[in-house]
Amino acid sequence: MGVKGCDRNGCENVMCDRCSNKYGYICSDCFEELHMLLQEIKIKKGLKMQHSDMSIKEFMESKKEEKDSKDLNEVFPFKD
Ligand SMILES: [Zn+2]
Repeated sequence: MGVKGCDRNGCENVMCDRCSNKYGYICSDCFEELHMLLQEIKIKKGLKMQHSDMSIKEFMESKKEEKDSKDLNEVFPFKD
């Protein structure tokens, strides 16, 4: 296929430029979200914890919220 589809659950973005051997491809949207999530976890745990594989795995399996694309549809409505 050659399409670097994002491996985040529910994400249909392609042409991802980030790839993990463990978790597969991730698009910049999901990467940003993951990064924010990991920052949050780090703050909660007192900055001592490194990125844990567990939280990355959970993130990749968590369903991507579609509110962004909904907002986009409202601004640029698609014609049927
Ligand atoms: Zn994605």
